[in-house]
Amino acid sequence: MTPSPDIPAASEPTRASVVTIDGPAGAGKSTVARAVADLLGFAHLDTGAMFRAVTWTLLEEPRAARLLEAGGDDVDALEAAARDVLAARRFGLDAEGAVTVDGRTPGAELRTPRVDACVSRIAALAAVRTPMLELQRAFAERGPMVCEGRDMGTEVFPDARYKFYLDASVAERARRRLGDYAERGRAAPVEEIEAEIAVRDRRDAERAIAPLRCADDAVRIDTTGLTIDGVVARIVARVRGVEEGAA
Ligand code: C5P
Repeated sequence: MTPSPDIPAASEPTRASVVTIDGPAGAGKSTVARAVADLLGFAHLDTGAMFRAVTWTLLEEPRAARLLEAGGDDVDALEAAARDVLAARRFGLDAEGAVTVDGRTPGAELRTPRVDACVSRIAALAAVRTPMLELQRAFAERGPMVCEGRDMGTEVFPDARYKFYLDASVAERARRRLGDYAERGRAAPVEEIEAEIAVRDRRDAERAIAPLRCADDAVRIDTTGLTIDGVVARIVARVRGVEEGAA
């Protein structure tokens, strides 16, 4: 793993000006985080895209792809494959917080069904999480940001001042994913999407390192039945309110 040369070494978690948004797949984090970042004038960091980028790169390696797609749980072999790929390829973040691989920004290849099916197994590996955490903390040193993921408020930025946890029913999350897929020309039965979300939730919540969890001091928002604008407004008001209160 070689961070981009312009990224400083990781340091202590930044407290000021970090807004964390965690939650399970399909809870609306990305749309909300992007809109909140725009309104506040903060950078936006999608940490799921980082784990997706590592997964996509691994899937390009025939040996690693076989291991991953065989579905077995040979964690040592997966760790070794991940270490190799992290040593051979250069993962970084550009000025906007978009993940880069060897200086290039991957796009739609990060959101294929193959990556969806494998990413939570790769994200469970220490060999992957540690360098990603270093990149995430180094990015926060550059300025204010809204970061979204699974462990932003619990592990990566435990001292962040503004923490949110978005959730929604599995049915609602699957319905939203169906809409995302339709935009990308992918059709899938809603039951299949629900099943994929449930497997990913379980893997993310049950893993040993940095499991999906609502931080004790996070504001929890159930977005079922709420509009994106409503959720965004609540978060922005809270951040501005805290800032004004603190001024
Ligand atoms: O948010 P998104 O669905 O793109 O995340 C893809 C996967 O990346 C998650 O299912 C999870 O396994 C992993 N992830 C993680 N920690 C984060 C962000 C994402 O483990 N902070």
